[in-house]
Amino acid sequence: VQHLLDDILKIDILCAPDEYLRRVLGILCAGLPGACAVAFIVDADDQFVFAAEHDLPEPLLAFCTSGGYLPRVPGAPSPAVDPAPFGAALAQAGFVAITQVPLIHQGRLLGLVELYFEYAAPLPAEVITLLGRLGELVAIAIASNASLDQLDQRTRELHEEIALRERVEQALRRALQERRALVEIINHSTVVALLCRAEPGWPVEFVSDNVAQFGYNPQEILSGSLPLSTLIHPEDRPKVEAAWKELLTAPDVRTLEYRLLPRQGPPRWVEHRIWTRRDSDGLDLLPVVTAPRGVVTHLQGILHDITERKQTEALIYHQAYHDTLTGLPNRTLFQDRLEQAIHRAQRRARLLAVCFLDLDRFKAVNDTLGHHIGDRLLQGVASRLRAVLRTEDTISRLGGDEFTLLLPEIKDPDDAAAVANKVCSAITQPFTIEGQQVHVGTSIGISLFPDDGADARTLLQCADTALYHAKDRGGNTFSFFMPGMNAKLRDRLELEGALRTAIDDDQLLLHYQPQVDLVTGQVSGFEALVRWQHPEWGLLAPDRFIPLAEENGLIVPLGQWVLQEACQQARSWQDHYGMPVRMSVNLSPRQFHQHDLVSTVEEALAATGLPSASLTLEITEGVAMRDVDYSVQTMRMLKGMQVGLSMDDFGVGYSSLMCLKHFPIDTLKIDHSFVQGLLTDSNDAAITHAIIAMADSLRLAVIAEGVETQEQLAFLRASGCNNIQGYLISRPLPAQECSRFVARRGTGVLVGSAPGGGA
Ligand code: C2E
Ligand code: MG
Ligand code: MG
Repeated sequence: VQHLLDDILKIDILCAPDEYLRRVLGILCAGLPGACAVAFIVDADDQFVFAAEHDLPEPLLAFCTSGGYLPRVPGAPSPAVDPAPFGAALAQAGFVAITQVPLIHQGRLLGLVELYFEYAAPLPAEVITLLGRLGELVAIAIASNASLDQLDQRTRELHEEIALRERVEQALRRALQERRALVEIINHSTVVALLCRAEPGWPVEFVSDNVAQFGYNPQEILSGSLPLSTLIHPEDRPKVEAAWKELLTAPDVRTLEYRLLPRQGPPRWVEHRIWTRRDSDGLDLLPVVTAPRGVVTHLQGILHDITERKQTEALIYHQAYHDTLTGLPNRTLFQDRLEQAIHRAQRRARLLAVCFLDLDRFKAVNDTLGHHIGDRLLQGVASRLRAVLRTEDTISRLGGDEFTLLLPEIKDPDDAAAVANKVCSAITQPFTIEGQQVHVGTSIGISLFPDDGADARTLLQCADTALYHAKDRGGNTFSFFMPGMNAKLRDRLELEGALRTAIDDDQLLLHYQPQVDLVTGQVSGFEALVRWQHPEWGLLAPDRFIPLAEENGLIVPLGQWVLQEACQQARSWQDHYGMPVRMSVNLSPRQFHQHDLVSTVEEALAATGLPSASLTLEITEGVAMRDVDYSVQTMRMLKGMQVGLSMDDFGVGYSSLMCLKHFPIDTLKIDHSFVQGLLTDSNDAAITHAIIAMADSLRLAVIAEGVETQEQLAFLRASGCNNIQGYLISRPLPAQECSRFVARRGTGVLVGSAPGGGA
């Protein structure tokens, strides 16, 4: 027995249960001759299953290994299989006794060993004891083996768990790193990331550190001591919060622009791209637009400073709607405001006035003093207009020297007239620009809504027409639009268009009016007077088109043509008569103030070969007085070239005596208005006397213009006037008739033999 026990103890307890039991059965059967054995163990379902056997003959072996025999587990309700066939097979095989050894550990049945004997003799007592202990021993082995299995299983599970946990940890770490990197990137950018809960007060859960660019500490915002809405400009707050609330119900990405109040300094414009996060969403830092699912828990988004862009936009807007020189609204903005004002006036059944304004003599200022002074003058005009008008009025500059005014809701036309009067007198005050006094005036045309038109275009057109009317009345005044004015304007525009082509189409021509020296009785010279032979309108006198040409600048090419043509004619007469012929040419204000006047004259002389002493230029005193320094300088240059200078229409201006003091002139032309009144108006006679006496003492030549009668001639001659020009001698004539006139009269034309009377 002791040997058996020793042998059994030598078996490795940790080998598999089947193997262990096989070896135990082997040792047992070797010690108990005539016995064979089979072992069953209890499986997970508390059923016996075959585990091992020793020396079991067929068919017992087949019964056991195929499950054809299973012992009944004590306490189990019924045997798993019928034991009778196996009992029969046992008897058949010659086994007559069975001993069952239960394998019990800690009160649990783990298995059963059955020994079959060929004899019925009772087992010795030591063997019974041994078998009892053996059961216990084998049960321990099985149990420990099972727990080893469990341990294995557990260990495997643990490994898997650890691996899984590591994987999860790694993934988490990576995600965290990515998030940190993202936050890092955000913090280094100017884009602020913001996450707030979708709850009243919008508590902030995350804000990137770079919110410091607005002077905020992120902690203040996160702690709620600086609520989000207080950072938004009060004017924008309702709009922004309404948009945020809307987002809670409609899944969307919104871009909002509003002003943020930085800790210091003026408000900053920000662009806020904002979208929702739902309880079903993951942490996303990119906008995801999905169909609504789940409840919106957060608003998240990014915002950045767009102040500069806004400023640029504002600047561009301003530039698009304002005049750069004066900062006044431009035509587009004016038209906008006018249209709005018309709507308002219509609703409230009120009057409204549109004024069209144009500076008198602005072009002369620009030409004589330069564009720089011209620009400063326009700025000065703009600021005077601003000072005179009310804030609800709109002043705009259309371009050049044209301004428009919108007077909304006036009570009656007198209000508009009062404003126009105020504007006129404000602009008439001299401007001091860079130490120089500059004088301009303004003409104003006024149209009224609803009387003159129902829309902006018509009202502007009417005001423009009225402006022309004001100009025609001499400027520095205003006119209301009146029906019928349009026809006049149309004529004027037509005339202007035709004049543009007149020069190129050779429609201009010169007539020459002889001037006679009363002492010698000879023709002392000619005055060139321009005419326009229009194919339909006939021969037009200069007062029909010279003022218009002066206004629109066509006078410059026109004057050049006259100068050239007159010099050419004088040269050809000089060649024909073999003596110098004096030619007088009129210069308009604009012509005289052209900076290249001197060279234009030089060129005409050089091109025609006329000696400069044969040319006399006629200017009026008003022209010369406009810019005394410039006039003196120009006149000196012309005189230096031997060109003669004569003062035309002398006596009708305001500063005739000043002219004599300042300017290096040779000749005074007494205006025909004085000559006309010589015999009827004692003042005219006195003035004419005075002019002749004064010219005599200043050693200036005198020419009396517009002499029509012998009586006038006699008076002039008696007063000591030596030269005359007028219908009494001859009307202005075409060049050929002039030649005939001279030929008829001979070179020594005696005034006394003029037709219609004698001297
Ligand atoms: P102005 O220079 O004073 O010219 C004299 C004007 O008096 C001329 O008128 C002439 O025809 C007119 N006249 C001459 N004798 C008599 C007379 O006995 N009785 C009356 N009632 N009138 C007489 P016109 O040719 O119509 O020229 C008018 C003005 O037009 C000129 O006045 C001059 O200022 C301007 N003008 C004429 N031609 C030119 C020109 O080529 N260039 C410029 N810039 N102006 C010109
Ligand atoms: Mg003249
Ligand atoms: Mg004259």
